Amino acid sequence: MAFEIIETCVNCYACEPLCPNQAIYQASPHFLIDPDKCTECIGDYMDAQCSSICPIEGAILDELGREVNPPGSLTGISPALLAKYQAAVEATYQTALAAKSA
Ligand code: SF4
Ligand code: SF4
Repeated sequence: MAFEIIETCVNCYACEPLCPNQAIYQASPHFLIDPDKCTECIGDYMDAQCSSICPIEGAILDELGREVNPPGSLTGISPALLAKYQAAVEATYQTALAAKSA
């Protein structure tokens, strides 16, 4: 029963001081959670403190490997909408590239 920080962590330091069990520590290339110390904040808080403050979607996984803050949960932008706009940006870029080399 422990959360996990993965490679999308941007080392912002926000979560480390909030952990009631000092389970989070600075490491390279990103912060990590000591699974022997993490209690998922049960008994201390209603919500896990690290994932509540983390600004990066998908940087923290629960004990089953699920993203605690899945895509769209923090930005309010659904994955489908994000993919649509990314495709539009890519198409514009490719058009400009083709025009430049023509
Ligand atoms: S879930 Fe709670 S106990 Fe576990 S690392 Fe995050 S803040 Fe610490
Ligand atoms: S709050 Fe999120 S991005 Fe910041 S150090 Fe912790 S896990 Fe990494």
